Amino acid sequence: MLQTLSVRTNTRIELLDLTSQVQEVVSQSGVTEGLCHVFVPHTTAAVTINENADPAVKADILMVMNKLISEQEPYRHQEGNSPAHVKASLIGPQITVFVTKGRLALGTWQGIYFCEFDGPRSRRLLVKVVEG
Ligand code: ZN
Repeated sequence: MLQTLSVRTNTRIELLDLTSQVQEVVSQSGVTEGLCHVFVPHTTAAVTINENADPAVKADILMVMNKLISEQEPYRHQEGNSPAHVKASLIGPQITVFVTKGRLALGTWQGIYFCEFDGPRSRRLLVKVVEG
């Protein structure tokens, strides 16, 4: 079954650790061996996996994204949020994580991050856990 996680972001650009919420969906699914797909149905947000031990890593990722994708380009998109669209495409809208023994098979330092690039907003993540 397709599950929806609702997220309220707090600032323009941020990474939110949703590992425990995604694990909760896995636990409730009853699947012990399989795949967990996470999809972000937005054009200015994304999902990624990275270190969740040192919060400085989140800050560094955002610092470099902001440096790489300037606000000052001659963007043509009239809505004014082209940097957010570009950042979302670079990170991507989906991840897949193996599930084993009912747990996400993440590395010791890995967490699942929702990436907000045009907040604050109410957002959704779609999660599907598949046996196999
Ligand atoms: Zn736009």
